[in-house]
Amino acid sequence: MASKKKGKIVKVAGPLIVAEGLDDAKMFDVVRVSSRSLIGEVIEMRGDRASIQVYEETGGLGPGEEVVTTGAPLSVELGPGLLEGIYDGIQRPLRKLMEVSGERIGRGIDMPAIDHEKKWKFTPAVSKGVAVTGGDIIGTVRENSVVEHRIMVPPNVSGTIKSIKEGEFTVDEVVCTLNGAKGDIKLTMMQKWPVRIGRPYKGKMSPAMPLISGQRVIDTFFPVAKGGAACIPGPFGSGKTVVQHQLAKWADADIIVYVGCGERGNEMTDVLNEFPQLTDPKSGQPLMKRTVLIANTSDMPVAAREASIYTGITIAEYFRDMGYNVAIMADSSSRWAEALREMSGRLEEMPGEEGYPAYLSSRLASYYERAGVVRTLGTDNRVGSVTAISAVSPPGGDLSEPVSQATLRIVKVFWGLSSSLAYKRHFPAIDWIASYSLYADKMTQWYGENVNSRWVEQRNAAMAILQEESGLNEIVRLVGMDALSPEDRLTMETAKSIREDYLHQDAFNEVDTYASLQKQYAMLKLILDCYKLSKDALEKGADLDDLLAVSSREKIGRCKYIPENEMGRFEEIGRQMAGEIKQLINA
Ligand code: ADP
Repeated sequence: MASKKKGKIVKVAGPLIVAEGLDDAKMFDVVRVSSRSLIGEVIEMRGDRASIQVYEETGGLGPGEEVVTTGAPLSVELGPGLLEGIYDGIQRPLRKLMEVSGERIGRGIDMPAIDHEKKWKFTPAVSKGVAVTGGDIIGTVRENSVVEHRIMVPPNVSGTIKSIKEGEFTVDEVVCTLNGAKGDIKLTMMQKWPVRIGRPYKGKMSPAMPLISGQRVIDTFFPVAKGGAACIPGPFGSGKTVVQHQLAKWADADIIVYVGCGERGNEMTDVLNEFPQLTDPKSGQPLMKRTVLIANTSDMPVAAREASIYTGITIAEYFRDMGYNVAIMADSSSRWAEALREMSGRLEEMPGEEGYPAYLSSRLASYYERAGVVRTLGTDNRVGSVTAISAVSPPGGDLSEPVSQATLRIVKVFWGLSSSLAYKRHFPAIDWIASYSLYADKMTQWYGENVNSRWVEQRNAAMAILQEESGLNEIVRLVGMDALSPEDRLTMETAKSIREDYLHQDAFNEVDTYASLQKQYAMLKLILDCYKLSKDALEKGADLDDLLAVSSREKIGRCKYIPENEMGRFEEIGRQMAGEIKQLINA
């Protein structure tokens, strides 16, 4: 590398430093600061003056110290060994950092993100003489018992395979040589990619398939599409973390990237302690085998927090490019936005609403934009997806604040957590009146073909009853339940059943924690059939109190605890209920 000019620090303001004499630096270059070699990134250039956000603590730095640009943007290492990793916001391996420097991570430690010593067994998928281009899979590595890591030709590279080796290699060893237009190109199993630039793909497709979560309120009423974007705003204690954990555990994604950006230290410690203990219910293997964790606590430098969601989504895109369905969860994007605000403040930029920079919305949009279903690069027409799900923690639960508002303008699914539901211990506390999913209609066909042709009709019928209940509640509040007609009372009871027997789902119950779409359909069908039959019986003169007292209603209430392999019991209960109600007509 040509000798780099050395700049000098002229100002230190918390995580932001200003240095002069850096006329060879470019925007978003990574720089090394002081003799301690702290890592920073250029976020503003004026002449030879660079403003730099430093990813490590700047205590003890002062004017006059040296700054050198590395000439390269902030990048991540992508290759075998990513999974099961726990990284900080700039992809430093936290476990290894702690091994060398203890709980409080030392400064200026240079450490490769993925293991460069471990040997992986590489199995070629192409042979000599084959022409390949960016995105083509040249071989595979069984990264662990759950995930096959597909080694791809990096984007913007193409040629004919000159040689390819089978055997055990580190990520630095050459496994394949291409005959390129300008000579030989040596490929290893690792790629580097700048985090602030989305990885390229052939084209975006319209999301048409749900990310199945096994959570009834989500899958039935407010589904998120594979490749979609969703947000979970909610006040403290309303169940954001439990929802995200449930999704990480149960969502039918091949890979999970979990970005903890700056919740309080102890909450992140919970995630770090808890995640490695979770088992993937489907494979019975540790959940970490398909997970990458990125952790930034609020006591870690604010700039690293800002970078963490880009690091996360770049890793997500890399697995998407292999043809996987990836879900990225950010907990919480409010903390990320606060980091942005802090940096903006220190840059003395013109503040927008509540002190957030005016570019808050565009930054958020540029993150969510990287979600989607894509046709990947490469000749085999693979399809992969990244689904982005973010918790938002508005102060005081007030959704009119800028981060919630900006997020709501971008994402298509809103799972609004309600503190009053959480207070009543109705979990998941997703408010069925306020929440929405703009994907629900697009996925009508999928549900029809894959679960039941009446799925959507049933879903709409249940939602109509819930909405009717919220209208009737007003009347009840004014004049009391007794003033309602028997039909309206039946509607109220049915809504209660939908809420308590269907929407309420205990994340900590072994059976109830996950419900397949078939089970969801069967459960809701029982509730709605009961409603239809009872309504019909009412018209034919049956007594409402008798109808509400039939013993099969109680059984419907316990349906959530019926294991998936005993689905036959649903029909049994249905038959019993129809019989009981019929008897009341003639009574
Ligand atoms: P937040 O992250 O919004 O502060 P948490 O996710 O930590 O809130 O949830 C608070 C508490 O609510 C949990 O400790 C748990 O007891 C309860 N809870 C939340 N969701 C569920 C659920 N689906 N099933 C059972 N309990 C839940």
